[in-house]
Amino acid sequence: MSAGAVRAGLRARWALVCLCVPFAGCGGGWQDQPAPSSETVPAHVRVRAVELPSEVKGATLDLAFQVQRDEVGYLLRVQATDPSAWLIITRVVSPSGKVLHRESGPFEEPDIVSRLSNESWSGEGELSLFMPNAAGLEPLPGTWRIQIARPDGDELAGAELFAVRRVARGAGLRLDLALVDATRNGSFSSARSARRLRTDLAKHRALMDEVLAAHALAIGHLDIVGRLPRNLRGTVSTEDDSERTLCDAAVRMTAPWSLPVVIVDGFLGEHEQVLELAGWAPMPGALNALDSSQACVFVESHTYLENDEERNAAFAMTVLHEAGHFVGLDHVSSEDGRVHDRFDDTPECHLDRVDGRDNLFFDVPGEVDGLIDDFECGLDGGAGNVMFWSGVAEFAPFGFSAGQAEVMRKHPLFRPERAE
Ligand SMILES: [Zn+2]
Repeated sequence: MSAGAVRAGLRARWALVCLCVPFAGCGGGWQDQPAPSSETVPAHVRVRAVELPSEVKGATLDLAFQVQRDEVGYLLRVQATDPSAWLIITRVVSPSGKVLHRESGPFEEPDIVSRLSNESWSGEGELSLFMPNAAGLEPLPGTWRIQIARPDGDELAGAELFAVRRVARGAGLRLDLALVDATRNGSFSSARSARRLRTDLAKHRALMDEVLAAHALAIGHLDIVGRLPRNLRGTVSTEDDSERTLCDAAVRMTAPWSLPVVIVDGFLGEHEQVLELAGWAPMPGALNALDSSQACVFVESHTYLENDEERNAAFAMTVLHEAGHFVGLDHVSSEDGRVHDRFDDTPECHLDRVDGRDNLFFDVPGEVDGLIDDFECGLDGGAGNVMFWSGVAEFAPFGFSAGQAEVMRKHPLFRPERAE
């Protein structure tokens, strides 16, 4: 897994800086995961096993599955028998026969032609694919064909499809969030008074709902479901197995079909280097999966911000940003300003046009650093979009575009509001 370039300093005061891991992770199998029983599957989702080919020769295998006429989104999850086995999606073919994604080897320097991703679509031991993750794709019903490469020849243990049924256009949808406190001293939950905690949670909900309401979306349940055991509290590292361990513990505390949000003191990278990150998320995430690093998002506690208003805003927007990755949304522009998302209604910020733009907020005015900054890009360059790679309060209120919201509305985690 690559940790990506992360810029320290400026963003530490109000940060959305985020490490998302496109389609990848360091997960393991979920062999012991019981299939969700029909009682627990929400009415708008259908769960079905995808048949594996009975005989596999060579380094690739093909999966084929049907999407039904009334289904508008699907999340496919594939797992290998060996949790460290490298898996790569090398081809995605739509029902009309269009090749939406193609990666050809060698795997170290892949040649990628894709409507869906700018990067190699790979993972250790597990892989997820959410469709549609971009605008302008054809309707989903029909037969999908997915080719998966296994450079080491490892066997697949299983593949499962979560298909989402169509709901009325504009119907209210809700996302349930389960907050799990993994800070060392309980700074997010037990270190605050119950009253203060209630006030803060109500504020987080209001801030997220303000952003979501424009698209008939909202936060459903928003609860602290508990603290992780003492030995799992503190930081999470992208270089060892801790993200999988923490994530697994969090998922076990969380009701299925909620997004587990693990609140940590910070993030560590290679050689225990402290990363100036506000959050981490898989893209897309795995649903209800045990023993997986991809089944939750991580968010920094933001308790270093002493101003209540700033802290609540930063925390709430970081949770929303990471939830966006979990349901398949990419950054509107990559931090190097060279790669942009697949929506034509989100602003793009190009490095060659903005790097070094002078403004009052730079530590070094006019610095050319090879990264696009909130202030260099400005609102016209997407700094007010929730999925900008970084975030500063000056560009609030943040928002999603209609195209981004359309993708979120087709994800299984956004469920129709329950009838009263
Ligand atoms: Zn991000």
